[in-house]
Amino acid sequence: MTLRIEVAATSGAARVGTVTTPRGSFTTPCFMPVGTRGTVRSLAAPDLEELGAEVVLANAFHLLLRPGADAVAALGGLHRFSGWRGHLLTDSGGYQVFSLRPKIDDDGVTFRSPYDGTATRLTPESVVALQGTLGSDLAMVLDVCPPLPSPPAVLRAAVERTLAWADRSLRAPRKDGQALLGIVQGGTDLPLRAESATRTVELGFDGYAVGGLSVGESRPAMLESLAATIDVLPVDRVRYLMGVGDPVGLVEAIALGVDLFDCVLPTRFARHGHVLTSEGRLALRNARFATDAGPLDPACACPTCSRWSRGFLRHLLLVGEPTGRRLVSVHNVSSTLDLVRRARAAVVDGTLSSLRSEVAAVHR
Ligand SMILES: [Zn+2]
Repeated sequence: MTLRIEVAATSGAARVGTVTTPRGSFTTPCFMPVGTRGTVRSLAAPDLEELGAEVVLANAFHLLLRPGADAVAALGGLHRFSGWRGHLLTDSGGYQVFSLRPKIDDDGVTFRSPYDGTATRLTPESVVALQGTLGSDLAMVLDVCPPLPSPPAVLRAAVERTLAWADRSLRAPRKDGQALLGIVQGGTDLPLRAESATRTVELGFDGYAVGGLSVGESRPAMLESLAATIDVLPVDRVRYLMGVGDPVGLVEAIALGVDLFDCVLPTRFARHGHVLTSEGRLALRNARFATDAGPLDPACACPTCSRWSRGFLRHLLLVGEPTGRRLVSVHNVSSTLDLVRRARAAVVDGTLSSLRSEVAAVHR
């Protein structure tokens, strides 16, 4: 098997495990920082190593547009290209394509490049081949991700097309040792979610992603849909919740049994001066931090908190120094990875419910 999970501890539905691939292994639950274009914005591979990241997400769709999959392959594949030695997961880009109002038919999807307007075609088979050329460790199928809310007929059509494409993706030639994950859709319609999950599992993937959530629905609706999906997923396969990485979302989804997460939130927050701390979210541009000599988070041991003050970092952000965004990104990514490490320890110790209460109290 190309993707094996061994569960080491459980607490209710929550679980801690080790995932093994031909490249090596990583621990779950696992937060994957998002490196859409081959790098996590304003960070470099050594930063992520120092922070203890084990898996990074890259976006096959964006890399196809620029610099092109062949250019990445000519430079030794995505690992050598990006300098990242850990595991890489590539997202198929289904979600991004659908934000470009593409033409969808049974065979695939056609869209105009947001860079130069060139018409580009993706099919389930071409997306598997693309990720093989890039050389990621974990690949995703091309799915149909409708916006929420959508009428029932649109959600149903997205589920049917995603299933048909999932079946074709499994039959497509695939790079040796690359795992392929199916994606469950169904919006927030619980029976449709369960049906999508059941039929995706019947096709038989290395792991299963929960897609089409965290797109504007309420958190209770997101968690209900997630629970309805996980109920159906096999315990011996990796479960990946796409696009969730806020503190409350992370611990609540871990409690439901999710293994893998990705989200742009830590780096996007950093660019806007929002800092994730153990005492809640802090707006660093606020004037009250102008002469604050303390670290971003007194409970954090990251390189930024070990050396620089809130006042200095606020100054960098206000004058537009790129270093400011970079140092706050280091902290926010570190803070997110640290929370997931604490959640893993809490699953082992049986203290996850107190961690959930703590996180809910400071992060709303
Ligand atoms: Zn820090």
